[in-house]
Amino acid sequence: MIPPIANNFVAGETPEAALAHVETINDRGVAGILNHLGEHYEAREPADADADAYVDLVEEIAERDVDACISVKPSQIGLTVGDDVFAGNLARIVEAANDPEATGSGGAATFVWIDMEDHETTDVTLDAFERHATATDGNVGVCVQANLKRTREDLERLAALPGKVRLVKGAYDEPAEISYEKKARVDEAYREDLRYMFEAFDDGVAVGSHDPAMIADARELHAEHGTPYEVQMLTGVREAAQFDLASDPDVDAEVYQYIPYGSKWFSYFYRRLRERKSNALFALRAVIGS
Ligand code: FAD
Repeated sequence: MIPPIANNFVAGETPEAALAHVETINDRGVAGILNHLGEHYEAREPADADADAYVDLVEEIAERDVDACISVKPSQIGLTVGDDVFAGNLARIVEAANDPEATGSGGAATFVWIDMEDHETTDVTLDAFERHATATDGNVGVCVQANLKRTREDLERLAALPGKVRLVKGAYDEPAEISYEKKARVDEAYREDLRYMFEAFDDGVAVGSHDPAMIADARELHAEHGTPYEVQMLTGVREAAQFDLASDPDVDAEVYQYIPYGSKWFSYFYRRLRERKSNALFALRAVIGS
């Protein structure tokens, strides 16, 4: 069982728990991005099993008729095992997500996001995105990281493709030669990238950030350029702001919550604790208080 503190960041251990969470946020105008937790598998079996779990999840999303899509990590579905394993499993998931039978008769396709991991995976991830975004006419999205110096050039390539792009600041420690290290420089890069995306993208911009300054920039850029956009935040982080944005008639954006779930919740929870001193203090207080 997931202890109450971790429960803030993870929606439960099963797809049923995660889908029930989606229903509660849908009622408040927020859509879900479901992530079945798992990554860096060295063997084929767990990678194939997690790809199967996503194929089943796509069916369950359709059956429960919730407003949700999915987000997949490349190393979870086989990238560490081999490029071919990753390619095969991703193809299976994208096919299921676009199959009218799997997604309910006449049901809409389920959107598939591809998360971005460390810089050694960037090229293979973008290539996979390009393949599937083109084949599905844009029913696939990919994440790019503002802390990587290459991202601006990658955005120029992505602007010419169908599909959505999520801009995040970047969660991985990267070598100094290829990344911006100071937080202020990453924030500046984020703002520059966001501006470029609002100017150059047709299929919309996904703002993957909790930072009120970046969200304010996105609102201004939308007013200036009219490019559609969505704001994406994590379960348990600034949730009040998520619901406020979704219910604000002056905000012309969709709001999504990225919802991790599954038995491998501990390492994800630990990462959230390491990211923020306030989360660690919150956890400590809960443990001392219990
Ligand atoms: P920050 O400047 O770090 O934070 C701004 C404010 O948000 C903080 O002051 C605080 O109030 C709040 N906040 C931020 N994080 C936390 C937290 N953990 N706990 C409590 N409060 C917090 N990274 C990748 O490298 N690849 C991905 O595929 C990826 N996908 C993502 C998908 C989504 C939907 C989101 C929201 C993030 C994703 N990330 C991904 C993580 C991202 O790179 C950042 O590490 C993370 O979002 C923190 O950056 P920030 O933009 O929120 O800004």
